Amino acid sequence: MSRTKIVAGNWKMNQNLFEGKQLVTDILKRSSNLSENVKVVIAPPFTQLELAASQIKDTEGFYLAAQNCHQEKAGAYTGEVSAYMLKSVGVDYVILGHSERRQYFGEDETLLAKKVNAVLDAEMKVIFCVGEPLEIRDANTQNELVKKQILGGLFHLDATQFEKIVIAYEPVWAIGTGRTATAEQAQDMHAFIRSVIEEKYGNDMAANTTILYGGSCNPANAATLFACPDVDGGLIGGASLKADDFDAIIKAA
Ligand code: PEP
Repeated sequence: MSRTKIVAGNWKMNQNLFEGKQLVTDILKRSSNLSENVKVVIAPPFTQLELAASQIKDTEGFYLAAQNCHQEKAGAYTGEVSAYMLKSVGVDYVILGHSERRQYFGEDETLLAKKVNAVLDAEMKVIFCVGEPLEIRDANTQNELVKKQILGGLFHLDATQFEKIVIAYEPVWAIGTGRTATAEQAQDMHAFIRSVIEEKYGNDMAANTTILYGGSCNPANAATLFACPDVDGGLIGGASLKADDFDAIIKAA
């Protein structure tokens, strides 16, 4: 079994065009020599995508992600960007279901399932985020919630489609808080997610699906988290905005 390891940097709503150009330059300078089987995915804001695509295009192992898309291909949806448009500027992956989209923009499983379809129809891959808020962790019902998120957002897919899915487990209480899941908490959840995939798609699919950890991952904790047998890399927020930190995390994978 050789699952692809991915380190993905979610810039969120940070960096203007010039700052972002410099950040990609700095990342490429430090991190372009990747180990075999490691992919780096950069997810800048929409305004940066076309430029970032041109910057990374000759560097093996580097890919581009958008942080969201609309579920329709085109139409009267002022302010929105479709998967079809993202594909045309060189995007490879779209992050869907990030907890900030769920929390601030009310995105639920019904909507996310449509967005997943839109991304796959446009021939890109999905990084699908799941994870529980603190009160659910405190009530120890995180497995039920994460299973519901996966079922509702992804389990309408057939096996050929599901092969295009990367899952990111991001406990909401760990995102941007400096509080990281322990390696044991991450491993337990990743193994559980794999078991949920196995129930529906079988052992091979479960064994081959890349599952990332996200939530205050940094150079000091990345190696411990990535050493867990079911953790295949990370979705990195704050630390992906500093080329040195992001490089250290990439090297930990
Ligand atoms: C994220 O937003 O996906 C994330 C993991 O953020 P941070 O690393 O800053 O906690």
